[in-house]
Amino acid sequence: TEELLRKSEKLSVVGQLAAGVAHEIRNPLTSIRGFTQFILEGNDKREYFQTILSELDRIQSVVNEFLVLAKPQAVNFTPRSLSPLLHQVVELLQTEAIVNNVQITMELDATAAMVNCEENQLKQVFIHILKNAIEAMSSGGCITIQLQQIEDTLSVSIQDQGEGIDEERIRKLGEPFYTTKEKGTGLGLMISYKIIQAHQGRMKISSQRNMGTTVEISLPVYTPFA
Ligand code: ADP
Repeated sequence: TEELLRKSEKLSVVGQLAAGVAHEIRNPLTSIRGFTQFILEGNDKREYFQTILSELDRIQSVVNEFLVLAKPQAVNFTPRSLSPLLHQVVELLQTEAIVNNVQITMELDATAAMVNCEENQLKQVFIHILKNAIEAMSSGGCITIQLQQIEDTLSVSIQDQGEGIDEERIRKLGEPFYTTKEKGTGLGLMISYKIIQAHQGRMKISSQRNMGTTVEISLPVYTPFA
């Protein structure tokens, strides 16, 4: 019965996801269809094309995030140090940070320690979390990234000074399509949880309203010949 139970749980998650995807894609499709119809009828306003474009972008971002999930998880695990990876991710988001008046500080210890990982997937996780941190600070602020080794785990914590999350909402994090953002997909944290899980790691979010949020990811340190 346990196995059965587990299977039916899986089914309901898949069902929930499928329903969510259908919903996320149906809305922009309806709007694209409507505006195309307007244009066909001779109302060829330029703004209609703008709307169509942004609806297409929305579909694309939902599909892109799902592609990450669809990829097989355990193919390309290699031992890597996290410090260059974090530097690369910060580099990628630097422009976005500057535009939003956000300063990113790094305090990296244990730079020699490695984790067995699928590098691109971990990058994806840190990008999601840093973007969330930037988006949470509408009037700017600081993000601190800390890397440290605690016994046989490597811990990365990303702390922001943003709007924070209140207690009842914190339970919803990681549920597919839970978002409070106008242009959010609500997929970032769910995908991040899945990726960290596939790496035998843990992800913990703690937050206080108007004070900020800390996301802590811990991963097992790679030991050769283990
Ligand atoms: P999205 O960013 O598309 O909304 P996520 O799954 O990444 O999707 O995040 C879900 C929700 O969690 C966000 O809409 C936001 O309400 C909340 N959240 C995530 N990270 C933070 C953060 N650093 N500060 C405040 N709220 C956050």
